[in-house]
Amino acid sequence: MKACVWNGAQDVRIEEVPEPTIIKDTDAILKVQTAAICGTDLHAYHGQVPGFQSGIVLGHEFMGTVEQVGSKVSTIHVRDRAIASDITACGSCWYCRQGLHWNCASRSLFGYGSAFGESLAGGQAEYVRIPYADTVLIPLTSSLPDDRVLFLGDILSTGFLCALNGGVKPGDVVAVVGSGPVGLFAQMSARVQGAAKVFAIDRVPDRLAVAEKFGSIAINFEKHDPKEVIAAATSGRGADVALEAVGGKEPLDSALQVVRPHGTVSIVGVHMLDNYPLSTFDAFVRELTIRFGVGDPMRLAAQILPLIENEVIHPDKIISHRMDLQDIAEGYRLFNERKAFKVLINVT
Ligand SMILES: [Zn+2]
Ligand SMILES: [Zn+2]
Repeated sequence: MKACVWNGAQDVRIEEVPEPTIIKDTDAILKVQTAAICGTDLHAYHGQVPGFQSGIVLGHEFMGTVEQVGSKVSTIHVRDRAIASDITACGSCWYCRQGLHWNCASRSLFGYGSAFGESLAGGQAEYVRIPYADTVLIPLTSSLPDDRVLFLGDILSTGFLCALNGGVKPGDVVAVVGSGPVGLFAQMSARVQGAAKVFAIDRVPDRLAVAEKFGSIAINFEKHDPKEVIAAATSGRGADVALEAVGGKEPLDSALQVVRPHGTVSIVGVHMLDNYPLSTFDAFVRELTIRFGVGDPMRLAAQILPLIENEVIHPDKIISHRMDLQDIAEGYRLFNERKAFKVLINVT
């Protein structure tokens, strides 16, 4: 079968690789129809993922049709149309039973080597082995087109969780640090939860233009100080909720700066610092709530799907490029150079 294989930093190629087979009786094989390139794939693309090796099949945003199931798979059936959750989990441990799949001891992430658990070949391929298929696959009963539901498997769930963890209430002023695909979905989700005003903080003009199109108020932090702009709009208080959707020190600094006393900072960007200089004095005096989270499609699908079905949100509107699997290297190049906002891949 054809698959997008990582061969070294910024070197991905479509190669012929063996088709996956059922290894455990809880596995299924998914025939992929549609996939996408995620910002998280860029860390892999650049070879920044610990332990990454040539030959890894990339991709964790994908959906398709179930081709084969193991003998212990019970709720998923051959020919079911399903979205794969980007993260995987066993479905039966204590954490999974609470719906906290990321904390499962058997969790992993497709197409990411062994960085977060078992090494699972990714979904930018014609076929994928899905572990714990009853838990990891999200079956679809409606006939919504792939491009409207695919992002449920990762970036939409991540943006939605960000707003959810922020406890956004009707009338709130929300500041979202980052206006890439996840930031944009965090902005959309904040509006769904009733935010009166949503500020989008970024430095890339094209991204801010997209945010404005969706109804956010753009702040280019290279031209304006987000703290001042938001203070001016809130009688000097600051944002009720700050959502961080980038990862790294500066974006978190920014979120902490714009939030008001007794406000909440909800973080879904990928953070890897051991020594972030948080002023606990400042956090104490301002009574801040600071919350980290990882998107969980397995837990959130039931809440998000109706929003898509009832056209409250239109996730497909963020797609800037559509291409065939054969041309995915070009998709990576454009996405990496920020010439593409979101790339959808037609696999079959
Ligand atoms: Zn992703
Ligand atoms: Zn588990």
